[in-house]
Amino acid sequence: MTDATTRPPAIPFTTDDYAARMARVVADGKAAGLDGVLVTPGPDLVWLTDYQPTAITERLTMLFLTPDEAPTLLVPALERPDAEAAAGAPATTLVDWADGTDPYTAASNRLRSDGRYAVSDSAWAMHLLGLQTVLPRSTYHSFTERLPMLRAVKDSNELGRLTAAGAAADATYDQILGVRFSGRRETDVAGDLADLLRSHGHEQVDFTVVGSGPNGANPHHEAGERVIEVGDCVVLDFGGLMFGYGSDTSRTVCVGEPSAEVREVHEIVRAAQEAGVEAVRPGVPCQEIDRAARKVITDAGYGEQFIHRTGHGIGVTTHEPPYMVEGEEQPLVPGMCFSVEPGIYLPGRFGVRIEDIVTVTQDAGRRLNNTDRHLQLVE
Ligand code: ZN
Ligand code: ZN
Ligand code: ZN
Repeated sequence: MTDATTRPPAIPFTTDDYAARMARVVADGKAAGLDGVLVTPGPDLVWLTDYQPTAITERLTMLFLTPDEAPTLLVPALERPDAEAAAGAPATTLVDWADGTDPYTAASNRLRSDGRYAVSDSAWAMHLLGLQTVLPRSTYHSFTERLPMLRAVKDSNELGRLTAAGAAADATYDQILGVRFSGRRETDVAGDLADLLRSHGHEQVDFTVVGSGPNGANPHHEAGERVIEVGDCVVLDFGGLMFGYGSDTSRTVCVGEPSAEVREVHEIVRAAQEAGVEAVRPGVPCQEIDRAARKVITDAGYGEQFIHRTGHGIGVTTHEPPYMVEGEEQPLVPGMCFSVEPGIYLPGRFGVRIEDIVTVTQDAGRRLNNTDRHLQLVE
């Protein structure tokens, strides 16, 4: 599996794209009654600036998004050249602090002593505690409900990247069907999946689940030393990043002839996944996607064996809001992208999961994964 990498070109994000994202966060923070939004390294910072320190270090890096000043990115002096190279950096004022000086004092110079600030989810506790020490009268708030929701609605260029990542994952699945399963270890097939994802343009492989036989009944199983046997059901779930955006798809295959039970369970999951995708349209609360898929499985008598939420958002990370789960009332918005991935897990025996990434269009849902969802047989 050493095919040359096939990687279509991505449309680059412009400085204006990043400036627009930062402006949306500033406006949203203001609407929430905040004096600013403070963003440290992690997916929010990548989305806002394209900047990801090579090593996330103990040294403070912080983006200040406040209504009365241009976005400012505070970085350790030694990391300034890397930060300057980020595509969104020209939309910020870059300032640095030197080793031997106090970064929290540098940060406090940009903040009010009695302000209300949101802090990104990925902020290290030591950085938040450092700020609280220098500015004890300011208050610090979660932005979990808002900032990831701004990230959740993709623009056309982001959607293009997610579409390309999905097509690469589909090409990987189509090719893995031709690979030998029986007599090989799960880790061998997982290695094939990783090679294929890279050969189809992924720069990063995040997970390659190969859950054969009883291992398929554990949704958290990755891949192990078990040798795959004829008759096994095998859950495949794989993905990573392409142009910085995620792929994530699952199919369940059978090695040789499936039993009547495997066929029946697979067909229930396929129908549940279909029902989940069919329920997607703007304005529908996220929990309705979970309910639609779950109803099919519950009605078939396997409700107790569907032990996880139906889906998660995807973007610059492979798991992010919005979540398709009971209790999530956030309405779907055109441009949101998330997984629909119901499963049935029979402990000690086998599991089945089918997963596509879906995007919300003006009137429905559109899949970014389009390989055959019927049960496929492998050797
Ligand atoms: Zn998955
Ligand atoms: Zn997933
Ligand atoms: Zn088919």
